[in-house]
Amino acid sequence: MGEAVLHVVATPIGHLRDMVPRAIETLQNVKLVAAEDTRHSRKLFEHFGIETPLVAYHDHSHERVLPKLLKVLSEGHSVALISDAGTPLVSDPGYRLVDAVHQAGYAVSPVPGACAGIAALSVAGLATDRFHFEGFLPAKSAARRERLRVVGLYSCTVVFYEAPHRLLECLQDLQLVLGGERRITLARELTKHFETVRRDTLANMIEWVSQDSNQQRGECVLVLEGWVAPSEDEPDLQSQQWLKALREHLPLKTAAAIVAKQTGERKNRLYQWGLENSIDD
Ligand code: SAM
Repeated sequence: MGEAVLHVVATPIGHLRDMVPRAIETLQNVKLVAAEDTRHSRKLFEHFGIETPLVAYHDHSHERVLPKLLKVLSEGHSVALISDAGTPLVSDPGYRLVDAVHQAGYAVSPVPGACAGIAALSVAGLATDRFHFEGFLPAKSAARRERLRVVGLYSCTVVFYEAPHRLLECLQDLQLVLGGERRITLARELTKHFETVRRDTLANMIEWVSQDSNQQRGECVLVLEGWVAPSEDEPDLQSQQWLKALREHLPLKTAAAIVAKQTGERKNRLYQWGLENSIDD
């Protein structure tokens, strides 16, 4: 008999063919599988012909179920953890179990697979070099806005999970806190029949989602563009707009001088900005 291991196994987030072969083998070969919802997982097991016994595991049953799992491990048998969909522990139960199994000195090994947040990020068309996973925002609007005031200033891409009935409210709060110009990608029903991936500004996204109530159904991930700090060398937005308008009738230098006089913005800075943004030709 090999070493007793807790395998943390990802399952599909929609399309059943996203179940990786090693996930099926692992779930077949362990002695016991801890699952978030055994009724839900039984259907998955039936589909793949897996007959391993299931035990319900969620955060509030941790104290009761942990001894059972440790006993199986202590007898030299491996166990597995799955959630209803995707990767366990990612906005799903399991952290306390993995922590306890480490503490008890057993190995923990992943069988990687689907994760809605990562799948959404991969199609969002927003920067992926650095990202923040926020998971679910608070359900109440005041707390949600407070949190958005913090994450809205992160310069990296931000990934949110959101319930469909709160999607519109959430987008509206995002616009209220961050303005309508920031880009966001809605990744809905990924890998399923009504899969939708749409990237737009917050203002346009709100309009689109409000006009099509189907977009407020199913499961969704929101991927938000990171905050870009306004450059210190840039004139404020209003001065930029004035400069553009005047430039249609006057040379750049004259237009910059007039805007500088009216707004208190530096003439050179306006002139430079005009050159950099090609409004001089
Ligand atoms: N552990 C899971 C994972 O790895 O993605 C996430 C579990 S969390 C309780 C469920 C949330 O994930 C949903 O509310 C939704 O935000 C997102 N989600 C799950 N499946 C999805 C899918 N097929 N398309 C879009 N979002 C999905």
